[in-house]
Amino acid sequence: MIQSQLITITGGNMKRIIGAGVLAGLVGLTATPVAAEEPFAIAIHGGAGTITRATMTPAREAEYHAKLKEAVDAGYAILEQGGTSLDAVTVAVQVLEDSPLFNAGRGAVYTWDGHHELDASIMNGATAEAGAVASVTTVKSPIALAREVMENSVHVMLTGPGAEAFAKQQGLELVENSYFNSKSRYEALQRMKKQVGNPQDKTAWQQLPADYKHGTVGAVALDKDGNLAAATSTGGMTGKRWGRVGDAPIIGAGTWADNESCAISATGHGEYFIRYHVAADICARVKYLNQDIFTAGDAVIFDVLEPVGGTGGVIIVDPQGQVHMPFNTEGMYRAKRQAGQAAEVAIYKN
Ligand code: ASP
Repeated sequence: MIQSQLITITGGNMKRIIGAGVLAGLVGLTATPVAAEEPFAIAIHGGAGTITRATMTPAREAEYHAKLKEAVDAGYAILEQGGTSLDAVTVAVQVLEDSPLFNAGRGAVYTWDGHHELDASIMNGATAEAGAVASVTTVKSPIALAREVMENSVHVMLTGPGAEAFAKQQGLELVENSYFNSKSRYEALQRMKKQVGNPQDKTAWQQLPADYKHGTVGAVALDKDGNLAAATSTGGMTGKRWGRVGDAPIIGAGTWADNESCAISATGHGEYFIRYHVAADICARVKYLNQDIFTAGDAVIFDVLEPVGGTGGVIIVDPQGQVHMPFNTEGMYRAKRQAGQAAEVAIYKN
């Protein structure tokens, strides 16, 4: 008798159902359920903006390429060994936070007052637990602190001096704010101030080129147990004032993970990503409209954000290990690596 046996692989991934036994029955063998190789995947970004070949030297491009590959490979190695998506996204983001090339951690941009305030968040798609920090000034790895908030506090978001007191209590590495200083970001602040002129001029702020508003890093991953996770870390916007907080630490705006739909990390003009609730909107379309991540991601980035002037992009991974990285700017530093495949790194639109 031909018997169809359905094996459901647990781990939160309802869609991974494998029909086994049919073939075995046909050839007269005893059906032995064999689980297919579990999918896993990681994607990362290092910010979106006016990134074109014309504005890049080959040497600089090689540096970005190497660092993105290092980060995606570090996360991939964890997943390949059966580690969690949470560990993979944390480690990948930390590689980028430690590099002066990106606007997060070491390479954070300057505020209007000439110092650095960092934001970060992380979300566990299996449990809907999340942790976030905003406006921290002395924490070397804001993503590590966001994870501490998620795992070792009863809160979701901590800000400023309170967040730093918690970091100290948890034994995280603290640095002077000057650790985040860099010549190139300082010069960017001076250029930005010149372009804005009067800081009260709202239109001048809105007309700033995208590059002053972009540069966050992030990672999303699916592990072999079918669990999704997302993490985002940033120095925010060049010249930000009055304790401005962007989308990166806002769960649902810059970061979202849900095992039943997708995991997302965003980069772009944070004010728009907050108002349009970008990360959660994309995953909600996947969950409730049954859209795939390609349809849902493109709809929000190109049909919702672009018409209203919201520039930026997202990285998305779904429970099958598919990856999509749509953006409506000239470029987005990005990389992905799916089970058994080599890393793919890209910078420009085409
Ligand atoms: N989204 C970040 C913010 O608005 C900036 C960025 O992605 O570069 O703070």
